[in-house]
Amino acid sequence: MGFNEIIGQKEVLKFLKGSLKKGRIANAYLFYGPNFSGRFSTAIEFAKGLNCKKGLGIPCDECPSCKKISKFEHPDVHLIFPPNKKYSLPKDIAKLRKEGRYFKFLLDARDIGINTIRGEIVKEAYLTPFEGRKKVFIILNAERMTVEAANAFLKVLEEPPLNTVFILITTSPTLLLPTISSRTQWVRFRYLSKRNKDTIFKKFFGNTTLPDMISAEEISIFFDEDTNRLRREIGELFFSGDAKTRVIRWNKPRALDIEIIIYILYLYIYDMIKIKLNMDRIINKDYIDELRQVSGKYTMEDIQNKIEILNESYQEYRYNVIPEEIMTNLIIKI
Ligand SMILES: [Zn+2]
Repeated sequence: MGFNEIIGQKEVLKFLKGSLKKGRIANAYLFYGPNFSGRFSTAIEFAKGLNCKKGLGIPCDECPSCKKISKFEHPDVHLIFPPNKKYSLPKDIAKLRKEGRYFKFLLDARDIGINTIRGEIVKEAYLTPFEGRKKVFIILNAERMTVEAANAFLKVLEEPPLNTVFILITTSPTLLLPTISSRTQWVRFRYLSKRNKDTIFKKFFGNTTLPDMISAEEISIFFDEDTNRLRREIGELFFSGDAKTRVIRWNKPRALDIEIIIYILYLYIYDMIKIKLNMDRIINKDYIDELRQVSGKYTMEDIQNKIEILNESYQEYRYNVIPEEIMTNLIIKI
């Protein structure tokens, strides 16, 4: 891959390449910015630069160390991510990201708990690197650390191990504990221009025509067959009949993935707002007629209330209310 294949992040690359050349490496970095802006790929390239056999600097991308890092096989480069029953290897995660399925993975994943931080970071971070110069820990979705886990990690940052570099990846520094984010070097990834975004999407998804979407989450809803089917079902349900008919229609036993249902409903409601404000970037284009009709009936205040209902449902979901109960409430109220 190499640094030169990272698109649209000139300032980030200038800064990181400069640090590698001068050998001025921080203990911890916070790579933050929107999805698909290159945070993950940049972290991998930076890890190569730290461990390249040709010396600290711009990675050669050819030596055994660079190659191992590309294949997620380097013993000193660790990838930490929210655990999920199905996928546990860094390789799997890299593949899911490439296929735009990482968001779906996240929905099924637990938070990054204290055991992960203890087992994979605290225990490892103070050991000398096996074969590289630096141990590198890349923490994906760092905002998903539980409070307990974050505190355990904070202790490590307070006594930073000598040859270890942490790269935390998230969308915004405000999602992390200030005590953590203040101990990291912030590296901001910008929104990509339309042209750069098209290039990236083409690389990830080939020549498939993409609806004009703004984030990886939205894309993965369309690219994952099950999720897309659920999106269409929600659309049909959402735009049909009164509440009673809707409850009856939905009344079929199935495993509910309530978090994704709530997320899909958010997307429908945001579409209604966009229609009301004459904005483009409608996501559920296949329901545009229905969306127009429905949004004509509601005031902005009604729509605001619907967002509140979704927020409440999300809280209920976080507090382990039974999914069926949340769903029934949603159908009646929304
Ligand atoms: Zn190399």
